[in-house]
Amino acid sequence: MKKWTTVIAILLFSTFTTSPTWSQETKLPKDVRWVTDSAEYIGLCMQTYDLALAKIKIAAKKQTRPWAVVLDIDETVLNNVQYEVERVAEGQGFTSESWTGWVERREATAIPGVKKFLDNVRALGENAYVVFITNRDAPHEKATMDNLKKLGLWHERDVLLCRQSKSDTKEVRRREIMQASGRCAGLPRKNIIALFGDNLKDFYEVDASAGLENIRKNAMLDDRWGTQFFVLPNPMYGSWEREYK
Ligand SMILES: [Mg+2]
Repeated sequence: MKKWTTVIAILLFSTFTTSPTWSQETKLPKDVRWVTDSAEYIGLCMQTYDLALAKIKIAAKKQTRPWAVVLDIDETVLNNVQYEVERVAEGQGFTSESWTGWVERREATAIPGVKKFLDNVRALGENAYVVFITNRDAPHEKATMDNLKKLGLWHERDVLLCRQSKSDTKEVRRREIMQASGRCAGLPRKNIIALFGDNLKDFYEVDASAGLENIRKNAMLDDRWGTQFFVLPNPMYGSWEREYK
């Protein structure tokens, strides 16, 4: 018994004596740290983009007219973990002012695997298009495009649709892509063959009134995951926090 007491005492002592050497990062919440520190995060992103490319190559062969892959931007194409780190350091959460400041800095990094993926998709021929649909607000369009260009993620044939208002949902914008209407008037109509995002709403309109249980059940029954829908990991934030309301 005495032996165990000694062992526990030594363990406790070593825990407390090593704590001053903990890095700044150790104080970050686990969700943010997983993105900044884990290699698994990198693996999961690269795995998603690599497997998606294989599926898209097959789907593209069946297309007889222009087609598109549609990608969300934040935590799908651009990594904003530095913004999260800075907010934690300041003891603050998300605010639209701080977010605007971050977007204007154009310092987001590329999600692992996305550049190679986009380059490969664009190389699939004349009918291949890359479309970005983001809930970054319309006044952020220039800074967003600059950030994409800085990382080599933008091509002049690409389309970027920011959010113009609350009613300008992603579903509205997906329709514009397919029907060549609204902001896409004059562009070729495109068949959307794959969607990429970190949030359920990047894939389809979610009826929050159905309740969380049903939303999750429907996701479980959906056979488009991994064929048309490709999810990027984001443990830090999302509509899931508000039961998709
Ligand atoms: Mg996102």
